[in-house]
Amino acid sequence: MSNPYKAAVKQLQVAGEKLGLSKSMLRKLSRPDRVIKKEIEIELDSGRRKKFKAFRSQHNNARGPYKGGIRFHAQVSLDEVKALSMWMTWKCAMAGIPFGGGKGGVIVDPKQLSEGELERLSRAYARAFAPYIGPKVDVPAPDVNTTPQIMSWMADEYKKWRMENEEWRMTKKEKDELKATFTGKPVSEGGSLGRTEATGLGGVEILKHLAKRLNLKPENTTVAVQGFGNVGYYFAHFAHKAGFKVVAVSDSQGAVYVPNGLDPETTLKCKQEKGQVAGCYCVGSVCDVRHGRRISNEEVLMLPVDILVPAALEGVINANVARKLKAKAIVEMANGPVTPEADKILADRGILSVPDVLANSGGVTVSYFEWKQNLSGQEWTKKKAFNELKKTMQKAFDFVWKMHQDKNVDLRTAAYLVAVKRVADAMGRK
Ligand code: NAD
Repeated sequence: MSNPYKAAVKQLQVAGEKLGLSKSMLRKLSRPDRVIKKEIEIELDSGRRKKFKAFRSQHNNARGPYKGGIRFHAQVSLDEVKALSMWMTWKCAMAGIPFGGGKGGVIVDPKQLSEGELERLSRAYARAFAPYIGPKVDVPAPDVNTTPQIMSWMADEYKKWRMENEEWRMTKKEKDELKATFTGKPVSEGGSLGRTEATGLGGVEILKHLAKRLNLKPENTTVAVQGFGNVGYYFAHFAHKAGFKVVAVSDSQGAVYVPNGLDPETTLKCKQEKGQVAGCYCVGSVCDVRHGRRISNEEVLMLPVDILVPAALEGVINANVARKLKAKAIVEMANGPVTPEADKILADRGILSVPDVLANSGGVTVSYFEWKQNLSGQEWTKKKAFNELKKTMQKAFDFVWKMHQDKNVDLRTAAYLVAVKRVADAMGRK
């Protein structure tokens, strides 16, 4: 299914029917509460003015403020933003954090903009959407191509807008709380320690619990990771630290296979020198061609490993891949890496796939910690953020696993049953 919004509605319907939700409840949950479309205009360095289409979809706030990133990408579409906002609702409900779901986007190729133009675009977005967001209303964050620096510009512009329009009626507390409007900020501006590692670390917590349920011992469990960016690297790093054998990693240029297990940290250093992981056969501190071999991106998905971890792109595990892959289980660290057609094939083949809404929810969980710290004026240590994250992931995994066993459904359906029920309950199940 190529339209992400249609796919999201379909997934909701499957869960909704199993939960016995009324037609009117399903209708409400299928549509965002509000979709805001704007045209934002900035001055380019050349002096010319240019307009960009920008969106914010607020899907559901029954459990707390709308929460979700802002994406800067040439392929952003309204349907994509709507789907992503719905998935955020389920992800936050799944993690048990008090947020709903939202998502924003701008149709732009940010690589075509200078730093100054990017700042003007970020500030223009924050100003255009300022009337619809706020620490208790809608809390945006980074997403594809948006960074802590961009959050910092947006938070600053939002604050200016509020001061220009409402300072006369704001209490000191309300002014202090304004920084909680955006998460994913630089640590020096109220960002949380541990956010950078959070998604990978959270995924490895899920891996550990899954391995226990499947009676796999870390030292005998092989793992292949597609993608070696923020999520893929930290996943490999923490999995290696927990004793799992990470035998393959890839990036957009290619992949390496090191059958006895590679060292992610040395591999990262090697990638930084070479510009790619291909050629980095690193065991301990030594990278040597005798340790492994170069393989293609497609081969990574087909390796005879215990756990396959897509941590790069959407839709990579399609029907064709699902028919041939040899892994015992999948941990979905990217958003939407398994297509609905592949899902059915994996279920028929008895291959478990831990869904993205559970596996990669570590990122939004630490964003919640940032919001909480900003509102309470606290600053947590990294150790505290990690400990709280691990507890949250374990709780979420246990709920989904119980539902998977009690209802005899796959893990994705189980996660949806948990998440959609929590949201419907919060809405009073009308
Ligand atoms: P990133 O840009 O840091 O890294 C992406 C990686 O994928 C890079 O190493 C890139 O080389 C690699 N890649 C690109 N094309 C590839 C290909 N064809 N084969 C193999 N590797 C390829 O991005 P990220 O933040 O690590 O995000 C990865 C995925 O995780 C995305 O789907 C994102 O939506 C999802 N996600 C990220 C977070 C987060 O906190 N960063 C949270 C939840 C979900």
